[in-house]
Amino acid sequence: MKRLYFSLSIISAYLLMTGCDRPNETNNKDSINEHLIVATLYHQQAAEMKALTYQAYNIARCRLDEKLKGTDNPAGLAIVLDIDETVLDNSPYEAKTILENISYPEGWDEWMNLANADALPGAVDFLNYANQHGVGIFYITNRKEKYRKQTMKNLLEKGFPQAVNEHLLLRTDESSKEKRRNLVSENHEIFLLLGDNLSDFDMIFDKKNSGEREATVKKLRDEFGKKFIILPNTMYGDWLGAIYDYDHSLDNQQKLENYKQNLRGF
Ligand SMILES: [Mg+2]
Repeated sequence: MKRLYFSLSIISAYLLMTGCDRPNETNNKDSINEHLIVATLYHQQAAEMKALTYQAYNIARCRLDEKLKGTDNPAGLAIVLDIDETVLDNSPYEAKTILENISYPEGWDEWMNLANADALPGAVDFLNYANQHGVGIFYITNRKEKYRKQTMKNLLEKGFPQAVNEHLLLRTDESSKEKRRNLVSENHEIFLLLGDNLSDFDMIFDKKNSGEREATVKKLRDEFGKKFIILPNTMYGDWLGAIYDYDHSLDNQQKLENYKQNLRGF
């Protein structure tokens, strides 16, 4: 009996490996988000993730202190921040997509309506420090306008300062944040930007392929840790979209094949 079971296991494994057993809908669905397990665990379990976030906000504070020394008009200064994976932690949503085999935007409404994402380590302290010194704080996010009320509630309840309508710029017509940054620049000098996605900093990064993104980062390398403060996001972002040429019509299986094709072995 044991031998029969062993033989059947070998045959099943072989069929799966060779692809002869074409996965049906259920098999596909069972594994659609498996690739996100480690990425999401990193956000939720790795103390290194928390350390990186503290590190980002510690650097931001150094830059702020330097800037404050050289100005007598802090109200004319602005710090611009993204929200998701920059000040708020949405990893519970990513975990849910794995545990329940769903894909964005399924379940996103429910997560937004809870308005209970945790603040990322260091973010609240840093922004309250900036607020106490009279610096303008602007949240530029690609959350849709319909989530304004929930987003504001979430920010306020977690202790974020300046979470008021004029300082919360959500997505209306386009995902590029350039126009919204320009709006802030009309009355402020943006001296610091924080984000987890390169497009949070400059339109030069918008919709670029992986090679162009890498080359532009190299070109602007002196800005990181200076004007641009980046936070880690292993779960999603343009870095991942660039791998499959932002073709959002691809299903998860097709995306996964793209990811594998882009691995660099030796
Ligand atoms: Mg983000």
